[in-house]
Amino acid sequence: MKTRGNDEEKSRAAGRAAGYCWARNPNSAGRCTLQPGHDGRHVDHNNGRKRLTDTSGSTWA
Ligand SMILES: [Zn+2]
Repeated sequence: MKTRGNDEEKSRAAGRAAGYCWARNPNSAGRCTLQPGHDGRHVDHNNGRKRLTDTSGSTWA
């Protein structure tokens, strides 16, 4: 049986391979795009920006 946990594990591994922290944003779709092991809050640069010129989007702890 295919489990969501397995998919999560695979997706996270793929994100890490691409050089991202890739932690799931609990508040919306999207994942952390900072480097693995970063300090401070997680940041998703691809989602949650109000304007295209915003440098970062959603953040979460
Ligand atoms: Zn992160």
